[in-house]
Amino acid sequence: MNAELNQSQVRAMLLQVAANIIEAEPELSEADRRLGDGDHGIGMKRGMEAAVEALGQLPEDAPVNQLFGSFGMAMMSTMGGASGVVFGSLFRAGTKALKESPESFTSQGLADLLTAAAETVMKRGGAKPGDKTMLDALVPASEKAAQVTDAPISEALAQVAATAAQGRDASSEMIATMGRAKTLGERSIGHPDAGACSVAIILQTMADFAA
Ligand SMILES: [Mg+2]
Repeated sequence: MNAELNQSQVRAMLLQVAANIIEAEPELSEADRRLGDGDHGIGMKRGMEAAVEALGQLPEDAPVNQLFGSFGMAMMSTMGGASGVVFGSLFRAGTKALKESPESFTSQGLADLLTAAAETVMKRGGAKPGDKTMLDALVPASEKAAQVTDAPISEALAQVAATAAQGRDASSEMIATMGRAKTLGERSIGHPDAGACSVAIILQTMADFAA
């Protein structure tokens, strides 16, 4: 059990996130193929490979907010498309949200990060919860994080990851009104959103790392 994570743990955690998303490329592509154009896994893989490289350029003692920020920036500039903006923003939100605590990643930092990320993604993408997008995992996860700021980071992440997974599952039953599947309407029912799948993997990886 970890009360909080230090800088080198955060770096290792982000590298694990990248490894798990890269490994999940086929299932993420398949999830997008059912509802969209099938490029989500490839885009995420490309972004994560660039993010790993960006982390490698940072000094050993890089602050936590810079680790998240550089990771997100690299995704944004290499992935292209809506997913690049959206998932780059998720990590890049850490630049500001985590600057008060540059040496450790705490449950409060997690809540600040996810809250800022959800707000930015809603503003940039124009979607809201219920539209069958990654927000259906991210928004409930951010709300859960705000409720568990007194818990150790390991416990907070476990609860947040479980909430994100529920959100991913709930997106299956939604009718897409925004994002990859909006032209399918009711035919989008029965499959989760690929972006929500990515959010769930990212947060579950963080939870497993901190456990
Ligand atoms: Mg796509």
